[in-house]
Amino acid sequence: MAKLTEEERQRRAAARARKKALEAEEKDRRDRERREMWQREGMHLSWEDYEAGEPCRGCGEPMEDGRGDWPGTMYRSEQEKREYDAAQERFRERHPDCKSGRWGISGSRVTHCMLCCPPPPMSPARIQKLAELVASWPSTDERKKDQDAWKLTLTCDHTVRYTQHREHDRVSTDVVDCPECDARRGVVQSERIGPAYDDEQIMCDRLAAERERLAEELAAAKSKLQRQQRNAAATRRRIDEIEQQL
Ligand SMILES: [Zn+2]
Ligand SMILES: [Zn+2]
Ligand SMILES: [Zn+2]
Repeated sequence: MAKLTEEERQRRAAARARKKALEAEEKDRRDRERREMWQREGMHLSWEDYEAGEPCRGCGEPMEDGRGDWPGTMYRSEQEKREYDAAQERFRERHPDCKSGRWGISGSRVTHCMLCCPPPPMSPARIQKLAELVASWPSTDERKKDQDAWKLTLTCDHTVRYTQHREHDRVSTDVVDCPECDARRGVVQSERIGPAYDDEQIMCDRLAAERERLAEELAAAKSKLQRQQRNAAATRRRIDEIEQQL
């Protein structure tokens, strides 16, 4: 076979990247539609429903059976091996065309389908943990110092700027919003540009935020003063009235 010219090689690589980006875009669209459907149809269990033992609203199976995780392949008894195979078979029968991942709750042997079954609700303790995590994140200014900007070329041929933490060697998402198309688009190509914010810009942003805060404070103080002046005028009129009556 003749060796590919450099040009041909690049053309093929570009075509592959484009195909992959279109597939990611399509998957993103399907995932979003499914999430919207779950929301619309009220298919998510609340924490209370879950605690009360309501089955999965996607497949009808119990959310969990409390039987503990499956032992590793090497450690299953004959009985467990048969059970496991039967469970796998049943899953394939219930989800013949889903071709999707599976999920289960730790400590349980029930398997749910990524395509059919909405994820389980978060416990209040977990929500609390997440809230604490978010609260402990460094401030926006601190984070800006470690952000790199990337130039992304999308399936629509538009380019967008994308920022993420410097530690990533590649763009951590394969689909982004394209403001020009007002749609989600797959990323065909990405190129790191460098630090997303320079010190001067971080300082400017900080000053702008401070100015905005002061302007709000000033507006609040002014309207308070106006109220006080109106009250004073009303009191003055009342005093005048009483004096005339005397
Ligand atoms: Zn399910
Ligand atoms: Zn399924
Ligand atoms: Zn676009």
